[in-house]
Amino acid sequence: MTDELFREDASLRECRAAVLGLDEGGVILDRTVFYPLGGGQAGDAGRLTLADGTVVDIADTRKSKERPGAVLHLPAPGTDLSQLAPGTLLMAQIDWQRRHRHMRFHTATHLLCALVPHPVDGCSITAGYARLDFHMSEPLDKESLTAGITRLVAGAHAVRHRWISEAELDANPGLVRSMSVQPPRGLGRVRVLEIEGVDLQPCGGTHVANTAEIGAVIVTKIEKKSAMTRRVVLGFAA
Ligand SMILES: [Zn+2]
Repeated sequence: MTDELFREDASLRECRAAVLGLDEGGVILDRTVFYPLGGGQAGDAGRLTLADGTVVDIADTRKSKERPGAVLHLPAPGTDLSQLAPGTLLMAQIDWQRRHRHMRFHTATHLLCALVPHPVDGCSITAGYARLDFHMSEPLDKESLTAGITRLVAGAHAVRHRWISEAELDANPGLVRSMSVQPPRGLGRVRVLEIEGVDLQPCGGTHVANTAEIGAVIVTKIEKKSAMTRRVVLGFAA
């Protein structure tokens, strides 16, 4: 229902769009560059600008629960939406600084997956930190993981996505690294994210185009959350 432009090009910062309707407290557009919360990655914030210059600030983005395929652009509570009648044309623009941090961290979590060969059973990616929970009992070392990430960032590996059929995914169950997030089914195709020579797994999130773009990311904390869970927290180096 909403054309999700970020799935093909995560570097888009803005797009023209038309209002389809208001529902569940959010604005539904015919197309968008706003990523809705999913796969552990936070939803985008940003602004919608109308032809007369009126700006509606968007605080968060979610998938609609009631309308499959619709993306909800959620304004701050109390925002006046009376000008956003269906058919209204506007410019949708994301908070790029925030999103780029999501993209850098998100891509870094893939590097972490390549360094820690265990299933993932939880994931959260925000602008301030990222964390991955691995299903494992062995200890992990902060310094060696940071060194591993630094090496893969410096390796400047290309990052790209492609679509494979569900049959192809079924034939390669080892591709699915996450126990908590299964790739969406029923669309006939699944998006896979490849970091050349490093990692390949289904993922619908937004990523940088090359690992060098991640910059200086360090492991800030490793926690034993349970007998079978090790949590790794990433941060940007100051
Ligand atoms: Zn990803």
